[in-house]
Amino acid sequence: VPQYAAVPGKQPVVRIVTLGCAKNQVDSEEIAGVLRDAGLEVDAAAARPDVTIVNTCGFLQASKEEAAEVIRKAVRSKGRGKVIVAGCLPQRIGGDIARVAPGADLYAGVGQMARFPELVQRALDADGPVHEIEPPHHRWAAVTSRARAGSPWSAYLKVSEGCDHRCSFCAIPAIRGPHVSKPIERVVEEARHLAATGAVELNLVAQDVTHYGFDIYREAALPRLLRELDAVEGVAWIRLLYLYPSRVTPEVVEAMATLPKVLPYADIPLQHAHPDTLRRMRRPWEGERYLRLIERMRAAIPDLAVRTTFIVGFPGETEREFEHLLDFAREARFDRAGAFVYSREPGTPSHDMPGQVPAKVKRQRLERLMRVQAGVSLERNRAWTGRDMRVLAEEARDGWTACRSFRDAPEVDGLVLVPGALRPGSMTTVRIERTDVHDLYAAPPRNLVRMRPG
Ligand code: SF4
Repeated sequence: VPQYAAVPGKQPVVRIVTLGCAKNQVDSEEIAGVLRDAGLEVDAAAARPDVTIVNTCGFLQASKEEAAEVIRKAVRSKGRGKVIVAGCLPQRIGGDIARVAPGADLYAGVGQMARFPELVQRALDADGPVHEIEPPHHRWAAVTSRARAGSPWSAYLKVSEGCDHRCSFCAIPAIRGPHVSKPIERVVEEARHLAATGAVELNLVAQDVTHYGFDIYREAALPRLLRELDAVEGVAWIRLLYLYPSRVTPEVVEAMATLPKVLPYADIPLQHAHPDTLRRMRRPWEGERYLRLIERMRAAIPDLAVRTTFIVGFPGETEREFEHLLDFAREARFDRAGAFVYSREPGTPSHDMPGQVPAKVKRQRLERLMRVQAGVSLERNRAWTGRDMRVLAEEARDGWTACRSFRDAPEVDGLVLVPGALRPGSMTTVRIERTDVHDLYAAPPRNLVRMRPG
């Protein structure tokens, strides 16, 4: 354990600010765990921390701008403390980070969690900016523990890092490197630990969870992993985040259909449906095959909820290609779909493609697609009226409890609103009375536990 000498007799206080996605949140929790194991105090609310770590996202232009702003603020208010900039943004832009986000004391990339005690010490000792950006690597075994932030009953569990696909719009493989799976025994050990500390819902995250195991076991090991996780005591729900369409094999579908804890929930980011757009995106298949896949999954997995994401305004997207996507969205009847306007990212192949779509057209297409999807989502939600579903209580406020069902991944999907106050983290079965585009509204549950005021 390193010795910290910044303030004699007192260990430094570290504040971690996390930007971006669930995977970054897991990284921050691992950094916090490693620092606590080394004897440091990690306090998200510290007013005058000795060190502030900003764990950045660098995926899109908008995330870069947000990160630069947060870092500026941290630098302005650091006083005698130090600032470390870590994560995807420095990994992506390398030495340019000091120009984009000046004034920090140390710049690190992704995947160096176990080194953070040493990096904090170096930042404390630094007189000028230190650059510690190495090629991305993920040494799972080197991470000793994880200090959870957020609700104890729902946890993200990272099963792999990086990505071997080469979608032409995406910077992630350049930022996070090639796909590296966490060994099954490590994932299961982590799942047991999360369950022992109160997690009933495990959200498995990876860039492509269906690619799990190819690098270390030379086979698609997701079904095997799911069988082992299904046996972990205390876990009630296992949710898969990000299935790659051409890798959803019959074995994956069977595991989802038969393992009791694996939720009937499929998040399959498709990005588009027109064969020409998909070819330019370097994505597999086309709308027809996607429809057949979804049909097959729905036939095998009762009540399957399907979520997807689309990109509109990809270079060369004609009105005809876009209308094809609208038709596809109507026909596929996704429970939920997120859509993004194409962001022209330096260093990605699509950045220099001809036929860049004007910003105004992109925005209009986004609105048109979201209007179509709103109608579909409403219809999918309405089908639940009068039916019972099991929900996980998240937060009680103003006479209602915000809950999630198997159809609702944390943060991105809708809610089930239940009258009365349920204990956060508890599960109960409710009957759906009415719905809107985003949320479902339940009748008061019979076994309602009224919480004492205060
Ligand atoms: S599969 Fe996802 S993370 Fe991988 S390159 Fe494509 S969009 Fe990026």
